[in-house]
Amino acid sequence: MPRISYVNGRFVRHCHAAVHIEDRGYQFADAVYEVIAIVRGKLVDDALHFERLERSLREIRMEMPFSRTIFRMKVAELLRLNRLSTGSLYLQVSRGVAPRNHKIPGPMRASVVMTVRPLREVPAAVVEEGVPVITVPDIRWKRPDIKSVALLPNVLAKEDAVRRDVYEAWQVTVDGIVTEGTSTNAWIVKDGKLITHPAASAILNGVTRLALLEIASDLGIGLDERPFSVDEAYAADEAFLSSTSAFLVPIVRIDDRQIGSGVPGPVAKALLAQYRHHLWSDHA
Ligand code: PLP
Repeated sequence: MPRISYVNGRFVRHCHAAVHIEDRGYQFADAVYEVIAIVRGKLVDDALHFERLERSLREIRMEMPFSRTIFRMKVAELLRLNRLSTGSLYLQVSRGVAPRNHKIPGPMRASVVMTVRPLREVPAAVVEEGVPVITVPDIRWKRPDIKSVALLPNVLAKEDAVRRDVYEAWQVTVDGIVTEGTSTNAWIVKDGKLITHPAASAILNGVTRLALLEIASDLGIGLDERPFSVDEAYAADEAFLSSTSAFLVPIVRIDDRQIGSGVPGPVAKALLAQYRHHLWSDHA
C-alpha cells in the first residue's frame, strides 16, 4: 500500500509529495510546524498543539490556514488513507510560494503539508538504562519559542551528539545556562524537586513538557521552574529529556560525568509511568 501525504489540499503518493522551489519555507525557513502523537485515531494533547501552532503563526505574522476542525478532518482522512490509527503527524505551514524576495509580498496562500507515520518508540532497553548527552553552545536565534523550521543549529548540534555517540546535545548559553536539547526539553531533579527552564523566549514550550508539569503537580512533585547551569546539571540527582517523539528518556551521563547513581532515578520513572498512562489510557 503506497504511503499517502497531504500537500495543499491534495492527498498524494508520498513519492510525489512536493512543494514549489520558490516556497518561502524552502528559501527562507519562513514556516512553522508541529509534531503530534496519534493514539487510536486521536491527536494527543491536540488543544495544546493547536494553541502552540496558532501562537507560532501569530509570531511570524500569519494566521491559521484553516480551522482546527478542518485540520482534524484532514488528519482523519490522512490516517484512513494510510490505514494508520497510532503514529505521529508532521504538519508544516509555510507562508507560501512567491518570487524570491525578503519582503513579504502581501497576503498569500499558505502552503500546508502533512505526513503521518507509525510511532517509533525509543526502545525499552534504552529507556531502562538511560542515555548519555553532551553539552554544546546554544547558537540559535533569540526566538526558539517559535516552532520554526529554521533548525540548522539544532541539526548541527544533533550531529555533534551523533559523532560523540550520545543520544542528545543539551544547548548551553554563554552564561552557562542549559536551555534545552536539539529536539527535546531538558530537566534535572535535585533533592526531589524538578528543575526546568521557564518557558520564556529561550526554549520551545514542549507539549510533553506541559503534560509532565501537570503530572508532576498531580503526583505532588515539587517544581522549580528556573534556569539551571551546566554545573548544577552535573551535580543533579537525576536528569531527563522530554518530547512528543521520545516521551521521557532518563539521562545518566552529561559530558562524561555520571548523574546521580548512574541509573534512571525514581522521579523520572514515576513521571514516565504516568505519562504513558496519559498517552494510552486518556486517548482510549
Ligand atoms: N525543544 C525543541 C527545540 C524541540 O524541537 C522539541 C520538539 O520538537 C521540543 C523541545 C519538545 O517539544 P514537544 O514536547 O512539543 O515535542
